[in-house]
Amino acid sequence: MLLTTDAPQASPDVQSFVGKDHKLLIAGEWVAAESGKTFAVTNPANGQPLATVSEGDAADVNRAVAAARQAFESGPWHAMTPSERGKLLWKLADLLETHVEEFAEIESLDNGKPRAVAAAADIPLAVDLFRYMAGWATKIEGTTIPISVPYMPGAEFHSYTLREPIGVVGQIIPWNFPLLMAAWKLGPALATGCTVVLKVAEETPLSALRLGQLIQEAGFPAGVVNIVTGFGETAGAALAAHPDVDKIAFTGSTEVGKLIVKAAGNTNLKKITLELGGKSPNIILPDADLPAAIVGASNAIFFNHGQCCCAGSRLFVHRSQFEEVVDGVAEQASQIKLGPGMHPDAGMGPMVSQIQQERVCNYLESGFREGARAVIGGNRSDTDGYFVEPTVLVDTKPEMQVVSEEIFGPVVAAVAFDDPEELIPAANNSIYGLAAAVWTQDVSKAHRLAKQLRAGSVWINCYNVFDAALPFGGYKQSGWGREMGHEAIDLYTETKAVTLQL
Ligand code: ADP
Repeated sequence: MLLTTDAPQASPDVQSFVGKDHKLLIAGEWVAAESGKTFAVTNPANGQPLATVSEGDAADVNRAVAAARQAFESGPWHAMTPSERGKLLWKLADLLETHVEEFAEIESLDNGKPRAVAAAADIPLAVDLFRYMAGWATKIEGTTIPISVPYMPGAEFHSYTLREPIGVVGQIIPWNFPLLMAAWKLGPALATGCTVVLKVAEETPLSALRLGQLIQEAGFPAGVVNIVTGFGETAGAALAAHPDVDKIAFTGSTEVGKLIVKAAGNTNLKKITLELGGKSPNIILPDADLPAAIVGASNAIFFNHGQCCCAGSRLFVHRSQFEEVVDGVAEQASQIKLGPGMHPDAGMGPMVSQIQQERVCNYLESGFREGARAVIGGNRSDTDGYFVEPTVLVDTKPEMQVVSEEIFGPVVAAVAFDDPEELIPAANNSIYGLAAAVWTQDVSKAHRLAKQLRAGSVWINCYNVFDAALPFGGYKQSGWGREMGHEAIDLYTETKAVTLQL
């Protein structure tokens, strides 16, 4: 069902921000791209132009990297104590918290997600992430290590390690959670004392640009955070290949992740962390609390319109309950109201872009050609917005693209299993390993499966539970390294071993 009534207008503040001539943040100044070029950002709910943004490219990336290098090596950021860095991060969190509604509207207009979801999830998670990372700034410690040095008998030493910021970090983020992805990236970089060039997704640059204003208001010194808007093939590629960038932290497609690795290998072997695609198995065992599992399975795939790298896109259900679960998830889907994210009743907004809508629909058509059947959904909506109906597919085979490839849309493939012995190999049969879930009331079974599943996150009787303290990232081609938790801190530092002969 598509909501056809008009969505409310954004608040005057948001309208005025969105209507600005958006520039790049470099060395503490808002500047136009050197080329003078701009590009239009589209409102995915109606296909109309939403904003005009500077089109940064290699020349602007060079300027931004130089600013980040200078801020890293000298000046107030370089001299700042960990406690002062923590305070700035906390202040940023406080500022963001006073603008939740405003950011939710920006996110809804730019990305298409329901405003209420952004206000309840995206923005508070970003606030919490900055606070969590603020706490880490003063807790980045080395160790003292007793050493033996067998070829220097009798000599005595004092050895210890220092954990030092990795340096200038290029961060390239996607469009599915624009503000939250910026927070996941900026938080640990700033807590550790790195400086940043942030390349936001071309589809959704606005919330990061507004965050840039708050970063200035919080008092971060010039050049610590630089924000470049522009395209992946130009600005993103230039950042990945830049010889003076010490690390790239990337979230996006596995395909582009491989390009980033290549670019680093061809230049300065910069460090890399990658958070990539997924095709996550969501397993309902016969002894599960079925009503809860059905709601959970629906949320697992339909949250954020399925535009989540950890979406529960392969639903495994025992054959004895297959029909009941499929009907239940379809019933949940039927209750989701599609509409502009700004509409108060919208449970699901449009896909982020026409390209993404096409991509999802092409997958659906390939599935139908190969014999898959939609129990519900399966179509795009006939409007100017980029809507796709929530869809439950059955009659699939493991080799179909809709089962093996990441669709990144509201499409779940439900698969029946008979033999529990075959379940784990089937669930692990993916090039990805980002997330998985198990629904069961048997605690031992739950933990056994959690151990056997090859995935960076395993949820038991829940799905999509995120916390700033929990590491998130993937096995296999879902990525390298982890976001959040202390693991993220480790990945923004180098370890230096210092040895003194007494
Ligand atoms: P999607 O296909 O879902 O848009 P991408 O992986 O293409 O995901 O995009 C994620 C981020 O990577 C975006 O900020 C995009 O601009 C950037 N990007 C795309 N191509 C490249 C590239 N060749 N090099 C560096 N960054 C890129």
